[in-house]
Amino acid sequence: MSLSLTSELVSLPGIGPARARQLRQHGLFTVADVLWYLPYRYEDRSNPTPIGSLTVPDVAVTVVGEVCDVRERRARTRNLHLVEALVQDHTGAIPVVWFNQPYVAKSLKPGTRLWLYGTVRLAKSGWGLQLVSPEWEVEEDKEPLHLGRVVPVYRRLGPLGGRFLRSLAARILQRVDIGPSLLDEVLPPGYPPLAQAFARVHFPELTGGQDEATRLWQELARRTSPFHRRLALEEFAGLALVLEKTRAARERIPAPVCQVSDRERAWARAMLPFPLTAAQKRAVAEIVADLQKPTPMARLLQGDVGSGKTVVAALACLVVLASGYQVAFLAPTEVLAQQHFATLSRLFSPTPFPVLVLTGSMFAAEKAEVREVLAQGQPALVVGTHALLEETVAFPRLGMAVVDEQHRFGTSQRQKLVEKGASPHLLVMTATPIPRSLALSLYGDLEVSVLDELPPGRKPVRTVIRERDALPRLLDFIRREVAEGGRVYWVFPVIEESEALSLKALKAHERALKRLLPEIPCGTVHGRMAAADRDRVMRAFAAGEVSVLFATTVIEVGVDVPEASLMVIENPERFGLAQLHQLRGRVGRGRRRSFCVLLLGENVSPEARKRLEFFAATNDGFAVAEEDFRLRGPGEFTGLRQWGRPEFRAASFFVHQQELELARRLVRTLFSQGRQQELERGLLLPPSLGQEIPPA
Ligand code: ADP
Ligand code: MG
Repeated sequence: MSLSLTSELVSLPGIGPARARQLRQHGLFTVADVLWYLPYRYEDRSNPTPIGSLTVPDVAVTVVGEVCDVRERRARTRNLHLVEALVQDHTGAIPVVWFNQPYVAKSLKPGTRLWLYGTVRLAKSGWGLQLVSPEWEVEEDKEPLHLGRVVPVYRRLGPLGGRFLRSLAARILQRVDIGPSLLDEVLPPGYPPLAQAFARVHFPELTGGQDEATRLWQELARRTSPFHRRLALEEFAGLALVLEKTRAARERIPAPVCQVSDRERAWARAMLPFPLTAAQKRAVAEIVADLQKPTPMARLLQGDVGSGKTVVAALACLVVLASGYQVAFLAPTEVLAQQHFATLSRLFSPTPFPVLVLTGSMFAAEKAEVREVLAQGQPALVVGTHALLEETVAFPRLGMAVVDEQHRFGTSQRQKLVEKGASPHLLVMTATPIPRSLALSLYGDLEVSVLDELPPGRKPVRTVIRERDALPRLLDFIRREVAEGGRVYWVFPVIEESEALSLKALKAHERALKRLLPEIPCGTVHGRMAAADRDRVMRAFAAGEVSVLFATTVIEVGVDVPEASLMVIENPERFGLAQLHQLRGRVGRGRRRSFCVLLLGENVSPEARKRLEFFAATNDGFAVAEEDFRLRGPGEFTGLRQWGRPEFRAASFFVHQQELELARRLVRTLFSQGRQQELERGLLLPPSLGQEIPPA
């Protein structure tokens, strides 16, 4: 009987209704589900060791031999059932014992040849070695499954053990007709066909010479074998298909077409307080080209903290405003909204375009006024928080939405904004410095512009790790910095269990520190403050009336005070690396050389310390991001989960970047050949991913 990919598992011989139910409970319904349930590691049980050469305990070995004696007994002391056997080959014999597996005795008859895999232990008697509860398989004519080869190891699924799952996979692979995948036709050399990839990812064979076998063995462990890469390619092609369809759908929508003339160029020159960096020029050119097209832009502007994303966005806004449309500029916090409002008001003062602000904490009358201006449909730039998304705010001529620090925004919020206008252009800014190929996939259907260059004159921030006992010297340093016109952020972590508690800690700390720095004007900001109070303190800090700012991570993103030259971070071990990098990005923005002091808490683990040492040694946002990514995985990394990305079975954004790019290329080519429907039918995806593909 031959199986198809969609055959239900219950139709397999040997799978009764009870087993089928257990399998279903763990998400395995069909043959394809089992094929996509991949081994998480492999054991090399291919080379039997001669029994006579076993001399040291505590190593995992494979042996092949003949059973020469089997007996069962009960241990007197505990309630244990033992099967004891002696297994020998032509070099020697070794005792084998199984605990509480009485059925073993029934299968082992003297004279049976066995493969055994297990760990050699020193016998309880202290005399000689024995094998304890090894895995075993009777040597038969058919190909061995559990032993005598490289063996796949599966995570058990409740009552379904690895051995059962292994035989299930083997039985399916013997009968299934996988057929060619569409990608098989267009694959570059080096990738096996899909059917072979499935067969070998479950049951790899170390053929060829020793070197070749060693290499494949290592690749299997790293999930970079040709079989893993082929499966990753299939999955990434599924992702690329979703993205390509989204893009195609977007390109069918008409969007406001913007124009650029000498008038806009003159305004732009008047707005800019400095020449743009080459990276900024490139990004502006890419954005403006998008804005001139009749389809909505969807672009990610990605640049490390301090790379100057704001002016790039401002120039994009200018083009849209000058073309007669409105712009909504969304910030994740009130502090940031206020700051962008201040910056943008300043930038746009040489132009005729009004800049407005709308946040949740404003008075109802103020809000109503802004809403009224917007409702008239005149070109205007409005900066705001999520209050901008409220239904009562109408944008009759919304031409573009700018979203700052996008990782704080969910898909639905983005969608809401898009729904406000007919189909506005979308510019998303993020400081999360991710490798370009990752950005392409993490942000899905967005095109990417990268600011890979900092404005001139920046000096790298020097980061040091200090223990508590360094406090007196740190305070001296602060006095000197402030005397010379520098300003200081002092950041406290929010304790997740209790915001109230961490606020209390912040207050106590602040009082203590203020006593230690009586001559220095200090201020405090945190998330629980009224926005107006917070804003007042921030302004005082920006103006230099406050020199030391105690803060929670509300200052993490976007805050821009060029005079700030020192950042002290309390309990840095409680922050993720990416977050530390964001915080550190608040200093080093002006002419002063800047410092970041990581003030360790008590009992910091060696791993945490190593992590911080890595961070202190580099200012490179990409390196930090990559390390963060490696330590925490992509899910934690950018709020990927809120974007509802599927879980891949073989593919990893980190390990398979080459496949990711290849998949996107192949899918684009197939699309341009008008073969998307064929592609959609022809991909063999794991169920979670298959369901993600939206209808055409
Ligand atoms: P981010 O990319 O982190 O949002 P900002 O837009 O806040 O960075 O810019 C950081 C600082 O660099 C701001 O003070 C800004 O005025 C300044 N800046 C931006 N572009 C340039 C440039 N081309 N030359 C000099 N300074 C610049
Ligand atoms: Mg910014």
